[in-house]
This record gives sequence, structure tokens and C-alpha cells, in this order.
Amino acid sequence: AVHAAVAGAGHRRRRVLLFPLPLQGHINPMFHLAGVLHARGFAVTVFHPGFNAPDPSLHPAFDFVPIPDGIPRGDGDDDGAGAGGDYLQATLAGILDLNRRCKAPFRERLAALLEAAPDGGDVACLVADAHLLTLMDVARRLGVPTLALRTGSSASFRIFAAHPMLRDKGYLPARESELDAPVTLLPPAPYRVRDVMLTAGFGGHAQDQIYELVSRVVAAARTSSGLILNTFDALEHDELAVLRRDLDVPVFDVGPLHIFSPAAPSSSLLRQDRSCLEWLDSQAPASVLYVSFGSIASMSAGELVEAAWGIANSGHPFLWVLRPGLVRGATTQDQVAALPDGFDAATRGRGAVVSWAPQEEVLAHPATGAFWTHCGWNSTLESVCAGVPMLLRPCFGDQPGNARYAEHVWRAGLALDGGGGGGDGELERGKVEAAIRRLMEGEDGAGMRRRAGELKRRAAECITKAGSSCISIDKLVNHILSM
Ligand code: UDP
Repeated sequence: AVHAAVAGAGHRRRRVLLFPLPLQGHINPMFHLAGVLHARGFAVTVFHPGFNAPDPSLHPAFDFVPIPDGIPRGDGDDDGAGAGGDYLQATLAGILDLNRRCKAPFRERLAALLEAAPDGGDVACLVADAHLLTLMDVARRLGVPTLALRTGSSASFRIFAAHPMLRDKGYLPARESELDAPVTLLPPAPYRVRDVMLTAGFGGHAQDQIYELVSRVVAAARTSSGLILNTFDALEHDELAVLRRDLDVPVFDVGPLHIFSPAAPSSSLLRQDRSCLEWLDSQAPASVLYVSFGSIASMSAGELVEAAWGIANSGHPFLWVLRPGLVRGATTQDQVAALPDGFDAATRGRGAVVSWAPQEEVLAHPATGAFWTHCGWNSTLESVCAGVPMLLRPCFGDQPGNARYAEHVWRAGLALDGGGGGGDGELERGKVEAAIRRLMEGEDGAGMRRRAGELKRRAAECITKAGSSCISIDKLVNHILSM
């Protein structure tokens, strides 16, 4: 019935091809989008490289086409994260490399798929991660229309698009002495240079690489037939208006995707330790600090020690994700070994440590009171939608800008270190403790929790039938059907 109502009775089932960037923060929203499109009657085919390949058995409703990427495997337990600050460069280089490596095999397999179904068959379009410009070009040359999924916020896309202007005006490349200079060109967020440079904390190390990367993302959107964003109108109304003014392609604000298709089978690359949900059941409402820095961000061994004592000395219950590769230079996968002596004894009975958590469920759990986050967009959005205020400690890329938004525009978070974020300053246990207390105990924290709760309410509203995101999904479905 869903199919008939949406794709049109008597018509063939149309097929949407998807190509996610194989990183956790990009895979999750793409699979949620896949769930949404499938529920609207589309058949779904997912192209994927061997690197971080999905498990087809977890997604029986979708078809999968592996693309050999030739990336050597089995050599690494740290994919570059161990090489100090160079893990940023490794990640950026990896994205460009993946575009190159997948180009020819993707062309071959896409052509075969189209040939098997004459006249372009039932294929409606390719939805590719906006980091995969090369692959979108391949599809267009074969006559397949493309849509770009950008997994970050509207605000961060606007920063990307503004990079040439920020260069012209002399803000970028950033000079060390001017990292705190205000950038007033992108209101309403009170950005500083460090928030828009995307490589803060790396001493401007990878500025040229990031410049290439963001111009490719913007080109991917501009040359596509539409830009899909995992955000919602009430959260980013003004930013969306700017994008719609400045881009010649339609913009679809279809988020928060994870609450649209919460039943989507897990697309987690690491095994989620669900025992922590039981532990949360035993904790008082809004009492637990959840700590996680996502799938890529890392910290030095010294920072981990400061974070640990800050958490311990705050006296609050905590659930901490110590994922393999989190601590730079750690010699084992088990990061618990990097915790300081005495930490366990000091926190016995009021802490849980896991190597990977079912984060959406953790944030939605009534015991979770606050989230110490690296401000990846998925984490930020998941927190906001759960009404959980944030302790903000961004690392790189769009994270400092997200932190700025959370603290100054939504006022639902507190930047660690006062000025906060973008790698300005090392973690210090005293500051960590004070920030946790401010968030969990103080008036300020209560205000942030209230405002986060309001955002949660707005998120729930936008996915109802007449809600902004639901309407955007209708428009997206019609747009795809018209292709
Ligand atoms: N995540 C998870 N378990 C964890 C930590 C993170 O499932 O223990 C998920 C989280 O829900 C989010 C994604 O991993 O969807 C991380 O994406 P984000 O954009 O926040 O950060 P990134 O990893 O891309 O830096």
C-alpha cells in the first residue's frame, strides 16, 4: 500500500542507488535515509567499497554491490590515528584516495547494472555522499541523475561554501596569532577563525588539503540535482534560507534521519555493548554524564588522564566510551589500560566504561543527564533530539562550528575550557571537573537542559505529518520520481 500510494499504482518500483562514504558518521545517516526511501516504496541498492564494508545480512531489504577499492587490509589497528596529529591528514587523504580508487570499478559495475535493466531501467538516481564527487561525475556521464547527501549541518555547509570568500578576505589560511579573531560574515553564529578553518588544533597543517576537500563537497552539491541535509527547519531555519538563496539546486532538510527510521538495522561498524543500557536502568534520572568522542577524534595519553581525573573528581556517575584507537600512541586496543592508576578505585560503583555504545539509545535513556561530546554532527543532532545538554570539546572539521552553534545559538551546551574547542588548550582536570559540575549541578546547566528539551520537542514536531521534515521528504520523493 505504501508503494502504491507513493510510487504510483501500476508503475514499476523505482530504484535508488546509494553510495555512502565509508566512515561511521557518514554511514549512519545514509542508512537511515535508505530506510526512509525504502518505506516510501523505493527499491534500494547500496554501493560500497571493501573498506568498512556493511554487513548485508543486517539489511535484508537492500541490495548490495561491492566495489573493489584495492586498499590493503589487515595491516592496521589504527588507520593513521596513531601517527599524532597526522590522523587528520590521513583521513582527508583517505577520502580523496577512495574517490580515485573506486572510479573505474564503480563505472564498470554501474554500467553493468544499467545494462541489465534497459533504458536506464528502473533506476531513478544515485544518492552519494557529498565527499564522492568523482563517483557522482561517473554516474552523470552514464546518464544517472545524482543527489548529494551532506551528513553535516546546514551551517557547516555554508562555512564550506564560504571558504573562497574567507580566503579573499584574508581570514584563511589562518595565522596562529589570529585564531580568536571574530568572523562576523556568517551570522548568527559568533564564529572565530578557529571555528571556520576546519583544521584547528593542527596548526593549520592540512589547510590546502581541506581547501580541496571542501571545494569538492560544494561542487558535488552544485552539480547535483539536489542537496539532502540531515537537519530540520526549527534547528537551522536561517542557515537553510541562506543555502536556498545561494544554491541553484533544491535543498531537502529531511532530518533528524535517525528518528525517522529508528528501526533501521544497525549500521554500526563496531559491536555496540548493550550491557550499558542495563547499567543505566539502575541510575537515577538525568544523573549520568555520557562521554564519547565519536569514531575518529583522538586524544593524547596525557589528555586522557586529565579527562579521567576531571570526571572522577566531579563525583557524578558516568558512562564513558573508550573506543579502540582513541588514545594516540596506545599500544593496545583496550584503551582501559591507558586510564590512570587509582581511577578505578576512585570511581567504583558510579562509572561504566565500554568500547562502543548504542549511542542513540544511551542518549534517549532517562538516566542520561549530559553528553560530553566531540561535536560530530550526528552526535550533536542525536543529543539535541534527546533533549540532552552538552559539554563541548570539538576537535577538527565541522566540530568547532557545531560547538559554537550549540553554545551560543541554541544555548544548549557549554564549551570546555571557557573559550572552548578547536583544540585551543590542553585538557586540565580542574577545568573538566568545574565544567561537569556547572552542567550537571548549576543554574546554567538547568537552563541548557531546558533549551535542549525545547529542541527535542521541535524535533518531534518536524517529523509529524504536517512537520517541516516530513514535507521535505514528500518533496524529495516526488523529485526522485520525476527524474
Ligand atoms: N556512535 C555509536 N556508539 C558510540 C559512539 C558513537 O554508535 O559509542 C555513533 C553515533 O551515534 C553517531 C556516530 O557514531 O551516529 C558518530 O558520528 P559523529 O558525526 O557524531 O562523529 P564522527 O564519528 O563522524 O566523528
